[in-house]
Amino acid sequence: MIKGGIIDGKAIAKQISEELKLKVASIRRPLALAIVQVGDLSQSNLYIKHKKRIGVEVGIEVMHVVLPAEASFENIRDHIIDLNNDGSVTGIILQLPLPDKTAGMTGELINAIDPRKDVDGLTAHNLGLLVRGEKGVIPATPKGIVSLCERSGIELAGKRVVVVGRSFLVGKSTALAFLAKDATITIAHSKTKNLKELTHTADIVVTAIGKAKFFDKTYFKKGQIVIDVGTNEFLNETTQTLSIVGDVDFHDVVQLVDAITPMPGGVGPMTVISLFENVYHVALQSGADSAL
Ligand code: NAP
Repeated sequence: MIKGGIIDGKAIAKQISEELKLKVASIRRPLALAIVQVGDLSQSNLYIKHKKRIGVEVGIEVMHVVLPAEASFENIRDHIIDLNNDGSVTGIILQLPLPDKTAGMTGELINAIDPRKDVDGLTAHNLGLLVRGEKGVIPATPKGIVSLCERSGIELAGKRVVVVGRSFLVGKSTALAFLAKDATITIAHSKTKNLKELTHTADIVVTAIGKAKFFDKTYFKKGQIVIDVGTNEFLNETTQTLSIVGDVDFHDVVQLVDAITPMPGGVGPMTVISLFENVYHVALQSGADSAL
């Protein structure tokens, strides 16, 4: 769904949500997503509120487990293990980022999630399957980006894709997801030289650096597709109001390129619905009966 050069992630996510609701209803047992939140970050609260709303929409229960910011590594890990062993829990995610005390152990805590319940697809097991090009759980953001492109009629095979950002959460896993669709991938990061020259070589540019309005129109050219993953707070100094913006200066770029995702309403809703698709996917893998 591309209108006036804008890729409508919200509308595509809504379409997937309606399809998913029917699929979930066809499963004989109830599905549940457990979200483990450590601390009380306002941005995380907002994301979780959104996930709860979509859970209601598609018929998947959302269990919200809240631990204090000062919770120890062992404490968080033990809660995850309990959820691994809880037969009523279909999928588990650890809401990121973790507070400072445990942030350095993020990877280890994610790996405590049973890969069969890892609906964020971020355990070493599932990321390993993605690297090997084998079937596993694809992380929600890359899965959402690929669906967004496919459902918007954007061909991926043979396309040159530059992904800016190399985190395992977004950049690397998005690059691998595009590679699995036969695109040709380049990953850029903070040490990349001549970034503008590189972004100009792409058919599709994915921005995931976490810097508000970093990319203006000088990074792009006519004919390109821009997928903006960045989700950043931005203070308008004239009006002193805070808003959420992408890594791309949307209004500067929208007239130039072929199509671009907005913020909000682009990648965000696709990430959330892809997470719930993953809950359904792992339920099927674990042998949940379908009435169909
Ligand atoms: P991150 O872990 O901080 O990684 C940022 C990446 O950007 C790093 O690889 C870094 O390079 C690179 N980078 C930073 N400044 C750069 C520059 N000037 N030029 C080129 N590369 C640069 O962040 P993340 O977790 O990947 O998230 C990225 C953004 O996506 C954030 O805004 C986050 O909120 C957003 N996000 C959105 C969704 C969604 O669903 N919409 C989901 C997840 C994340 P180095 O590795 O060299 O440091």
